[in-house]
Amino acid sequence: MSEQLLNDPTLDRPGEACGVFGVIGPDMDAARLAYFGLFALQHRGQESAGIAVSDSDNITVYKDLGLVAQVFDERVLAGLPGDLAIGHTRYSTTGSNRWENSQPVFRHLMTNGIALAHNGNLTNTGDLASSLGPIAATTDSELMTEAISLAMTEGGSNLEDALAEVLPTFEGAFTLAVMDTSTLVGVRDPHGFRPLCLGSLDRGWVIASESAALDILGAEFVRQIAPGEMVIIDENGPRSRFPFADHGSHLCLFEFVYFARPDSNLLGQTVHSTRQEMGRMLARQSPIDADITVPVPESGIPAAQGFAEVSGVPYTDGLVKNRYVGRTFIEPAQAMRDRGVRMKLNAMPGIIRGKRVVLVDDSIVRGSTTKQLVSLVREAGATEVHLRISSPPYRWPCFYGMDTGDRSTLLAAERTVDEIASHLDVDSLIHLDLDNLISATGAGEDSFCTACLSGNYPTDVPLDDGKFLLERTS
Ligand code: AMP
Repeated sequence: MSEQLLNDPTLDRPGEACGVFGVIGPDMDAARLAYFGLFALQHRGQESAGIAVSDSDNITVYKDLGLVAQVFDERVLAGLPGDLAIGHTRYSTTGSNRWENSQPVFRHLMTNGIALAHNGNLTNTGDLASSLGPIAATTDSELMTEAISLAMTEGGSNLEDALAEVLPTFEGAFTLAVMDTSTLVGVRDPHGFRPLCLGSLDRGWVIASESAALDILGAEFVRQIAPGEMVIIDENGPRSRFPFADHGSHLCLFEFVYFARPDSNLLGQTVHSTRQEMGRMLARQSPIDADITVPVPESGIPAAQGFAEVSGVPYTDGLVKNRYVGRTFIEPAQAMRDRGVRMKLNAMPGIIRGKRVVLVDDSIVRGSTTKQLVSLVREAGATEVHLRISSPPYRWPCFYGMDTGDRSTLLAAERTVDEIASHLDVDSLIHLDLDNLISATGAGEDSFCTACLSGNYPTDVPLDDGKFLLERTS
């Protein structure tokens, strides 16, 4: 693929905010463990799922479009023996639902092979592609795999040394699970945009995007892998290397707001508790007189709990989510499409009618779901709808793994909060301030990337068309 294409921000970005997983240990059914790990990481990506497994001599990869439980079954897992595996769930993006983009990426080498699972987006794909010369890579994840393969084949390095050599040439967001036939390596880029943690089993080790994937296996949480850390795990257990210059920590703040599972632990905090605290802060930030606090399930629930607790406006379930909604390949009829949110959520007039409703959600990104939700709540008979959002306006595109690279699709990009309120047809709209959001996490401001909310990008970003001034913070 040409440099220009690799620089194109609309390029398929199979990295995205995906889930990555790895497991290693003697006599393990590694693929089965990876299956359950991916199952727990399903929320990080519903587009495709894949597992690479090594039986010490060969790596076998099985991947396909669909949910983890659609891609794998007993028959498939029985064909994936081995005691070292990595896995990947791919985030759902628009318009790039292709098998070729599913992961892990695999490269066969002379006496070995490597497989790689990536969460995030590189921001220097063009430069990287030209420095590697003519190669067959169409995505940033493939490009990284090629760079590592080249260092192993031409440079004669083992996987660990090849990674230490080429990782510093990558820029942007890359949390990786990489393997050859005998070694598992977990990597967090030097900013630590996406999370990765280490866990232990009786006789083995696990790496996973989120701690909830350790819980499902009965693995013990050991620690978060640090920004810039490479954890190499083989038969001698884990050891660390730090091949990057220090860039501080820039964990995506949106992991706390929306992306991570509530039962995961990030920066020593249970995500659910931090979301409740966001709700409490929202209530303190802007008190309101209303009848019921209604969460937008699932993501708005903990913030609504915190909001109700502090505001005294009683918490009530007014919207019901269809728990079994997953990917559907059946196109809805046109009349349904206009009201697509009903596939997922329905309002209960018996609860809402005649009430002044405080509707609580974690974020507004494009605004289309929120607009439909507000009209559902009004149709159900609410006399007033006051929208409370437990994060600031999402004004800036993310280049580090969220599917928001196109600024023109962001509702808040060029609107004031009043304009957003009138677009959504709400009686009032309050967003949680950035300072309050950060203090709800219990961590310092300098722990996070806040680019989507503040416009402060911790790295150079590929899109600077002169229209928007992109500020560099470090
Ligand atoms: P919309 O009104 O269409 O922007 O949708 C808002 C809803 O999308 C909120 O309920 C959020 O929880 C949810 N949301 C936020 N970020 C993302 C994301 N990166 N991918 C999918 N949904 C998201």
